[in-house]
Amino acid sequence: MMSTVPKPLPELTPLTRPFLEAAQRSELRLQKCADCHHIRFPVGPVCTNCLSDRFEWARMSGHGTVLAHLVFHRAYHPGWAEDVPYSVILVQLREGPRMFSNLVDPDRRYVDRDLVGRDVSVVFDEIGDGLSLPRFAVSPNPPANDDPAAE
Ligand SMILES: [Zn+2]
Repeated sequence: MMSTVPKPLPELTPLTRPFLEAAQRSELRLQKCADCHHIRFPVGPVCTNCLSDRFEWARMSGHGTVLAHLVFHRAYHPGWAEDVPYSVILVQLREGPRMFSNLVDPDRRYVDRDLVGRDVSVVFDEIGDGLSLPRFAVSPNPPANDDPAAE
């Protein structure tokens, strides 16, 4: 029952390469406008706020909050057949941009949970060909130390 069809890999372009190379170093870097300082995602050639084409790759904290959570029960590409059901989340990053991503949830603890409002932190998932993608794991929320007897 294991799928032998690989997932498609992200396309390396002059615009996506710095994002993907940062992810290989376990860094979440997004474009920050050199003129108005707006941080944007997805990757694009001009600022979505002021249309400037000048930017730097700014490092993000990797922390955010789940704005939306949906569960795919059907594989729309055979590469994901063995992953269903899996979670897709919309993350509000602390620095402002929003990212669609996957929840890293190997035990599928959260697939049926309402995750809206939960804190998440970026993790970097090796996807083959030396590439990694930022995904997110649920952070303890409220802070983990509310039960000192817990592990
Ligand atoms: Zn701008």
